[in-house]
Amino acid sequence: MNFMKLTNTQYNSIMQEYRRLQQDRDELIRKRKRELREKVPGFARLDDDFIAQGRKALFDSLSQGGRADFKGLTESVIFQEKDLLRRNGYPEDYLDPPYQCPDCRDSGYIDGEPCHCMKKRAIEIVFKDEPVMKRMLTDRFSDFSLDYYPTDRIDPQTGASARDWAKRALEASRGFVDTFGDGIRNIVFYGSAGSGKTFLSSCIAGSLLREGKTVLYLSAARLFDVMADHSFRRDGYSDDVGYTSIFSSDLLIIDDLGTEISNAFTSLSLFDVIQSRASSEKAVIISTNLDLKEIRGRYTDRIYSRLIERYNFYHLFGFDGRYENGLKNLKPAKKNGGH
Ligand SMILES: [Zn+2]
Repeated sequence: MNFMKLTNTQYNSIMQEYRRLQQDRDELIRKRKRELREKVPGFARLDDDFIAQGRKALFDSLSQGGRADFKGLTESVIFQEKDLLRRNGYPEDYLDPPYQCPDCRDSGYIDGEPCHCMKKRAIEIVFKDEPVMKRMLTDRFSDFSLDYYPTDRIDPQTGASARDWAKRALEASRGFVDTFGDGIRNIVFYGSAGSGKTFLSSCIAGSLLREGKTVLYLSAARLFDVMADHSFRRDGYSDDVGYTSIFSSDLLIIDDLGTEISNAFTSLSLFDVIQSRASSEKAVIISTNLDLKEIRGRYTDRIYSRLIERYNFYHLFGFDGRYENGLKNLKPAKKNGGH
């Protein structure tokens, strides 16, 4: 198994995408320049002047062994250029179109370090076949309907109904997105299969992805596979995207905790992840079919106590797509929540 290392081919395809972005932008600028030279009187002369001045400055600096003041030169020309564009009804930044990522100017690197957009692309490529990673792109909060959670199904532990819990979980999920980054907040969604845990996690993930955050969303089984593969291999790769993103992504979502084959290694790994992410103040969301008692029985005390201390628990249960239909007849079943 070597799914966590970014292969040369994958790396090259990412870099090729950056080159394409830069080329497209350069081509757009050239096209617009040609257009302006034709349509805007005075633009061609300014542009030629700029090129000539640039050449002269370069020549002078080379012949004098010094450095040309390109910055001053460029700023003055850019000022004139913007003025000319404005007076002719063009936007000021017509020749400086936006980058897809202004932080690294579509180069993928900032001061030699991979940019957040690069990390995001790497995660997408390495985990492109992970089913939950795909769902993030389509699941939306607006499709989460409380109507499917009955008011007469009561959680005996808390006395709250399925609808009450679903409402709390939905509010917490939206709040999680709205306040992401202001202090650390972690969530455990627990409850029976198909009750909307994965759906809400996926909505959160999608919302944050659209804000440019890095999100890693993995089943527990896959998470432990990645960690095992890293630990038991001798030639630890330094560009181990899968492994490092478990610790460095802005948000980690562990789906279906409890379905993995558990042993001493998984317990140790889970604690490592929870502890490391807490100390670097990065959020975690866990969804599980286990209830509190089962979590306690299955994992070590220190995992259980970390979860109790630092995570908010939301119980999702009683999801019933037919419930609403029973009341309102004829309303077609809407695809919602669960798997
Ligand atoms: Zn970037």
